[in-house]
Amino acid sequence: MTTNTPRVRFAPSPTGQLHLGGARTALFNWLFAKHHHGKFLLRIEDTDRQRSKQEHVDQICESMLWLGLTWDEGIVYQSKRLDIYQKAIQSLLKTDNAYRCFCSKDDLSRQREEAQKRGDGYQYNQACRNISEDVIEQKLSSSTPFTLRLRVPEKVITFKDRIYGEINVNTSELDDFIIARTDGHPTYNLVVVVDDDDMGITHVIRGEDHISNTPKQILIYDALVLPTPEFAHLPMILGPDKRRLSKRHGATGVQEYRDMGYLSEALNNYLALLGWNPGTEEEIFSLPRLTDVFSVEQIQKKPAVYDEKKLQWVSGQHLFKLSGKELMTGVRSIFPDWQKNEEDTYIENVCELLKLRAKSLTELKNISTYFFKDPKSYEEKAVRKRWKNDSVNSLVKQLLDELTSLENWTESGAEISLRKVAEEEGVSAGKLIHPVRLALSGVSAGPSLFAMMKLLGKETCLRRIETALGKLPTL
Ligand code: GLU
Repeated sequence: MTTNTPRVRFAPSPTGQLHLGGARTALFNWLFAKHHHGKFLLRIEDTDRQRSKQEHVDQICESMLWLGLTWDEGIVYQSKRLDIYQKAIQSLLKTDNAYRCFCSKDDLSRQREEAQKRGDGYQYNQACRNISEDVIEQKLSSSTPFTLRLRVPEKVITFKDRIYGEINVNTSELDDFIIARTDGHPTYNLVVVVDDDDMGITHVIRGEDHISNTPKQILIYDALVLPTPEFAHLPMILGPDKRRLSKRHGATGVQEYRDMGYLSEALNNYLALLGWNPGTEEEIFSLPRLTDVFSVEQIQKKPAVYDEKKLQWVSGQHLFKLSGKELMTGVRSIFPDWQKNEEDTYIENVCELLKLRAKSLTELKNISTYFFKDPKSYEEKAVRKRWKNDSVNSLVKQLLDELTSLENWTESGAEISLRKVAEEEGVSAGKLIHPVRLALSGVSAGPSLFAMMKLLGKETCLRRIETALGKLPTL
């Protein structure tokens, strides 16, 4: 893109929480701005007073801040700019680029039905396009309600989308669309143009569902004699069933992902890969790294498919980079009281030991419970496989004796003891490792047994092994 200091914006309608699609649009705008040392602005498109809610504005802002997508200037609210839109409307009327349409709702529905019957696409029949001043005066004096329509010229609109390439639209495909409703309120296409111009927006980066609005907006730019920004439309995000990503595919709200324990950096990383790639094998990015390598030219137009497994993998990679302390803080940002009575160093060590096995902070918390509490039960399937009969008890009992006399409770000390007993009994180490893991954690999978033993400490290990000996193999 051409300019050195671009100004881009994210323009959500506050009719719900920030979803993955919106977050990706915000992220791509933000990355583009930061990559080019430009500005990223936030505009709240709240002209629909019925559906717009302050709580959604708050939630959207909170989600963006959580993702680290901060905006560079004060938030622009469309609801506070109605007089500015009125000026634009008056100017369009004055230059005859807009006209009053007095057709009633009934007239228009009739036209629509007739078009349907004929099997044609509906287009306004332009009944009011050329009515005389006298008729207009008369209608105005009888207070007949009217909308304002753009007088669409006959031409081919051409624009170069940075992602979809050249797009040509013949205006015969558009009708004289409405730019202000009967209550005087401007419509979406008008306000977007007025705002983007006022805010000095140089590049409009948004979802591909807005491609069809772009020719209309270009007509308004032209009618208002304003420079047109560049456009880049982002590919659609589909669910695994190849239908547009929506609630039916599960969680879609950014805050839901935060609450599920995903790191914001992981979510940004994953969102960036929805429609963009660096053109190399690199897949794991921090936000600064993404900022460095991001380019609009690397965005594809084919729809991106949301893949939960990939998100989890990306998330796991980011978790793994954090220290035990950062992980503990992360878990506590979601569950503030998590293990409040434990020593921090112990919790940090637990996090460090388990981080390879967790895909989210919540999963990390869930798989760590046995580090804080003796297991109440033992995984049934594992017992059947690993602690089949009493012969296991006698093996484990021997190990218990060995461990009891172990003075220096270290990882290697525990390992040497276990291997010694296995050798003396002529069995493989696995015959002891699996039952002991079960005794200590209640589950069949986990980190290195000896690292786990070291961390749990001698007293806890001996107690748990003794308890298991008393309870198993019978469940
Ligand atoms: N408010 C519109 C939306 O949420 C965005 C409009 C635009 O980016 O031009 O889809």
